[in-house]
Amino acid sequence: HAKSLGGNCCQTFEPSFQEKMQLRMTIERHLRKAIELNELSLHYQPQIDTLNGRIVGFECLVRWDNSELGRVSPATFIPVAEETGLIYDIGEWALREGCLQNKRWQDEGIIHVPVAVNLSPSQFYDQKLKERIESVLAETGLDPAYLVLEITEGMTMHVQGSIAALKDLKALGVSIAIDDFGIGYSSLSYLKEFPIDKLKIDQSFVRGMKDHPINTAIVHAVQSMASCLGLDVIAEGVETEEQVEMLTELGCRTMQGYLFSFPIVAAQVPELSRNYANV
Ligand code: C2E
Ligand code: MG
Ligand code: MG
Ligand code: MG
Repeated sequence: HAKSLGGNCCQTFEPSFQEKMQLRMTIERHLRKAIELNELSLHYQPQIDTLNGRIVGFECLVRWDNSELGRVSPATFIPVAEETGLIYDIGEWALREGCLQNKRWQDEGIIHVPVAVNLSPSQFYDQKLKERIESVLAETGLDPAYLVLEITEGMTMHVQGSIAALKDLKALGVSIAIDDFGIGYSSLSYLKEFPIDKLKIDQSFVRGMKDHPINTAIVHAVQSMASCLGLDVIAEGVETEEQVEMLTELGCRTMQGYLFSFPIVAAQVPELSRNYANV
């Protein structure tokens, strides 16, 4: 394994097409049983208002631990789930689990902030999405004001009918965030037509600020535009104090990243909340 050879070794062993297909099929075979075997779990990563040091939300990130494959990254299995249609069940599982957990935190007086759940493109295009969300909210009893749906730019901006679809979702009382903002197909003029609440600045811009001023310029531009449009901004992937300083300078106060916390299991959330100003 190239990585275990140490250092910043650039040597990689690119698997062949056949090997990739084999792995995909293995993943698919195991993924089909993942929900019933209880192999999926959610981790929660806090979003921090750096001006007052409070947690203002959590993002739900799915984790998959399989006995044969070990832990498989969502970056690997979500695309497989997308292609095979398994994403409908997995996505609904994640939505229900995130809403249930948040309701529990609120009922137990642990923390009162929204949770953000990621939606895949096929979920967004699903005609039944609104109904599914509506019934999960009803089942779990979560106040819709405490649910944020994260969608990516490419999913929305160029698709006919997506303004109506978003308005439909918003009518439930949930919020909409655009994830990985800036790297997709953005059409800035559309942005003002879209009924969205938040932009999440992609972590590549945050990471690049130090060495390439263009990233700082982009963050600055996104922040100013969002302010004009009345949208909230969250910077993703914040890992250093230096990034916090630069982002603060640019007027961005809400941040998410390893500097504050890795994604954690639900059981760790009460202690984390105590460590911030929330409890
Ligand atoms: P995302 O929604 O953009 O989530 C942010 C990713 O960045 C997460 O990776 C998170 O663990 C990671 N991250 C957070 N802070 C830092 C940091 O400071 N530095 C670095 N380098 N990374 C950081 P993760 O958990 O591996 O998830 C990857 C992607 O998988 C997510 O990107 C999202 O697109 C997708 N995903 C995860 N859970 C779900 C889900 O329930 N449904 C769907 N449809 N997609 C999901
Ligand atoms: Mg996300
Ligand atoms: Mg993101
Ligand atoms: Mg991403």
